[in-house]
Amino acid sequence: MKIHEYQAKEIFAASGIPVPPGRVATEVQDAVAIAEEIDRPVMVKAQVHVGGRGKAGGVKYAENIESAKIWAQRILGMDIKGLTVKKILVTEAVDITSETYLGIILDRVTKMPVIMISAAGGIDIEEVAAKTPEKIHKLAVDPRVGLRPYQARALAYNVFRDIKLVRQVTDIIVKLYDIFWKIDASLVEINPLITTPINQVIAIDAKINIDDNGLFRQKEIEAMRDLDAENSSEVDAREAGLSFIKLDGNIGCIVNGAGLAMATMDLVKHYGGDPANFLDIGGSSNPDKVLTAMRIILGDPNVKAILINIFGGITRCDDVATGIVSAFKELHPEVPVVTRLTGTNEAAGRRILKEVKLPSAPTLDAVVQKAISMAGLEEE
Ligand code: GDP
Ligand code: MN
Repeated sequence: MKIHEYQAKEIFAASGIPVPPGRVATEVQDAVAIAEEIDRPVMVKAQVHVGGRGKAGGVKYAENIESAKIWAQRILGMDIKGLTVKKILVTEAVDITSETYLGIILDRVTKMPVIMISAAGGIDIEEVAAKTPEKIHKLAVDPRVGLRPYQARALAYNVFRDIKLVRQVTDIIVKLYDIFWKIDASLVEINPLITTPINQVIAIDAKINIDDNGLFRQKEIEAMRDLDAENSSEVDAREAGLSFIKLDGNIGCIVNGAGLAMATMDLVKHYGGDPANFLDIGGSSNPDKVLTAMRIILGDPNVKAILINIFGGITRCDDVATGIVSAFKELHPEVPVVTRLTGTNEAAGRRILKEVKLPSAPTLDAVVQKAISMAGLEEE
């Protein structure tokens, strides 16, 4: 789960990480009131769950109240990478002498939180990581021991020399790790962490992602969820108890079991296709889930074919088939649908499916190839 910059900054401020004063607004007049309160030049910042807002025109400097008003008008309602801006953060603008990247991710290779710091801050850190990885200093923290202050200090020394700055940055690293650990984050990031002409260190951007599996014990964080800011199909899927992740391809996939779903997507790629989503309908066989899955996938205009791959164990093929038939009756899909049902109650499932005359295939390879050819994507 993602939270907004303004919410992440509230968490930072509560832990003592310095952030510029500011508040969030949904209306132009509120933005103006905040700018008046701050009574100094401000930044007007779009609150959307995408990176690179600055480059997309969603982060603007306003010298005075009049210009804050103009930027609030332009940014509210703006489209940034397919998301409409409904909230803006109006925050005091600071003078910058340097921009540093500071982040912590959960690294699945070392199975530890890894802290990263780089003097190449402000810009796209993925690009720095790809082209000049030596510019990123890393430390894997053994969670059984936690982060020791001397380790944080050593990290800070990679980027800073002045002891006054090193002390502030060390303190911020320790606090950031503490936040990361306490709220079950999968990522916390300050890009950029800046220095000012009077040698203060301040977080002017903030990003926090939470591990969804930790949300059950993070009620305060879960309450920060902004449904408006999320992909609506992912919201619908979550409410229906489906694990769904939207992707950019054109073959909609409905599969039972996460492992089988991954294998199905791999095979789609292998045969030259591109999955439109990851979707696991789960172990139980509830026909309603199939209906919801079809509805969500058909809502994606990129989808040119739907592939249903069910390996019946606890999941019963006849139940899934019932779900598919009701989805056809209710949704009248215009894109081709191809199925492979095998396992528990397979024969009964096939009988039920006769009603909608769906093409099927006996093996995983065959069904994937069929879906790709139906989507008009077959490799030359
Ligand atoms: P992002 O584009 O979504 O990462 O948004 P950021 O909050 O990181 O802002 C992008 C860039 O705008 C920063 O790297 C800074 O260069 C600049 N910027 C943001 N806030 C300020 C500010 O208060 N003062 C100045 N001078 N520049 C800022
Ligand atoms: Mn940033």
